Amino acid sequence: MIAYLERFIHENDTESIQDDRLPPICQSLDLQGSINCVATGLAGKDFGGMYSFNPLAIIRPAGADDVARVVKAAYRSPNMTVAARGNGHSINGQAMADGGVVIDMRSTGDNYFKIVRMNGEIFVDVSGGALWEDVLIRCVSGFNLAPRSWTDYLGLTVGGTLSNAGVSGQAFRYGPQTSNARELDVVTGKGDILTCSETENSELFFGALGGLGQFGIITRARVKLQSAPDMVRWIRLVYSEFEDFTRDAEWLVTRPDGMSFDYVEGFVFVNNDDPVNGWSSVPLDPDWGFDQTAIPPTAGSVLYCLEVALHYQNSDHPSAVDTVVNSLLGRLRFIEDLKFQVDITYVEFILRVKQVEEHARANEIWDSPHPWLNLFVSKKDIVDFDRMVFKRLLKEGIGGPMLIYPLLRSKWDNRTSVKIPDEGEIFYLVALLRFTPPYSKGSYVEKLASQNQEIVQLCVKNGFDFKLYLPHYHSQDDWKRHFGNQWSRFVDRKASFDPMAILAPGQKIFKRVI
Ligand code: FAD
Repeated sequence: MIAYLERFIHENDTESIQDDRLPPICQSLDLQGSINCVATGLAGKDFGGMYSFNPLAIIRPAGADDVARVVKAAYRSPNMTVAARGNGHSINGQAMADGGVVIDMRSTGDNYFKIVRMNGEIFVDVSGGALWEDVLIRCVSGFNLAPRSWTDYLGLTVGGTLSNAGVSGQAFRYGPQTSNARELDVVTGKGDILTCSETENSELFFGALGGLGQFGIITRARVKLQSAPDMVRWIRLVYSEFEDFTRDAEWLVTRPDGMSFDYVEGFVFVNNDDPVNGWSSVPLDPDWGFDQTAIPPTAGSVLYCLEVALHYQNSDHPSAVDTVVNSLLGRLRFIEDLKFQVDITYVEFILRVKQVEEHARANEIWDSPHPWLNLFVSKKDIVDFDRMVFKRLLKEGIGGPMLIYPLLRSKWDNRTSVKIPDEGEIFYLVALLRFTPPYSKGSYVEKLASQNQEIVQLCVKNGFDFKLYLPHYHSQDDWKRHFGNQWSRFVDRKASFDPMAILAPGQKIFKRVI
């Protein structure tokens, strides 16, 4: 076996390799795509940069048939596992397979792109391996249409975010991306290719949405579209009091449809001149200043920024846009002189984090480790969370954004596998998006990861109603606690669709049945 692994097999060069020189699992697969058993480096890494597990092989499928062949071969093998890899933007090795097979779904990215009109609604069929940024560009430039619900950053695959939830500032209105998928093609853990929706194979459909890759590999998704606006007015508003910030954010997200902004997010920043964590992280243009004299003397160590955006068309009269914006802003209690706004195209707005990526790459911090923590925290505990975590533990910042914004339970479908807090209509996304200096040492990164643990433990000890988003646990007991009363449904779905526990071993939920 080792001899096989030492061979370098060029990408797209499988035809030239004799089948019997491949690892047994990869023999006789008869794939249209390619197999690579040595240059597997990519598949052993992710954005988190804290875990590394080498797979046996990385497979670049041509389509669902190849994916099904690989899963079937693993199903027949005594112990093989299979991980679909989207764009590897997980933090804790979730898309890895230690000694297993990694399927690089990006090779299927262009397999589907079709606008579908059904019963007065418009959808797009896209590949599970497509990047959302490509979906955006193709929908807008070709059809003036766009998905309704996004993530902040779009270098993520459709299958990767649908396996989690996919949230951004539109989710308060349209729900997470999992609420915007109407139909999926899924390769189950038995290697069957099934089309599923609310009415067809519905257990698989709802299981796969937010299913952490446990029930099947999404090869096609039908995603709801709306007409794309031309322009966006993007606004940031600064608050010194958390209660004012949350009151306004909650007011905006609970307004009737069409009577609020189209995007509502927020973040916490440090009340000082720190170039990364402080005042200068707020203005939408680096050349703009931040007038700190406007901050009330009563302000504490951290401040809050509400970030909102309004869509409009080029044909809208500027004064009409001003009227809508001003009538909404007139109800908010931000610090009057700390308002920043810019008008940009819709595509620029949706792709806004790409600029952050370019900047971070130039500073060599894009590829350094990212010990991120994402949580959903119930509204009932968010004031205490702010007091204990933002105002104390993280009062000096984390070297990256600390997002906090409200979401509405009624926009989440509880038939999906996504787990959100147990109580109340409003809960908050809290995202601690830590960046570390280039070539950070393990001990430094471990310190940050243990601070994340401390925050999770603080939530547990104080009895907060919260859930990890993009969860990561090591023991099945922890997973049981995470899913709570939905655990038995999760286990039943696993037994139906991946009975040998082949899929997504990097999530560490189930052990491969041997
Ligand atoms: P991967 O990391 O490759 O895979 C994630 C999991 O899904 C793995 O278990 C994998 O096996 C499984 N999987 C992958 N593809 C498939 C498939 N086709 N079918 C079934 N299972 C599959 N999330 C948000 O909600 N909102 C944000 O704004 C947001 N911003 C982010 C910004 C950055 C810079 C990063 C790094 C992450 C961000 N995320 C955000 C988190 C992101 O949604 C998840 O990490 C997501 O899993 C990444 O997608 P990916 O395609 O890289 O998936």
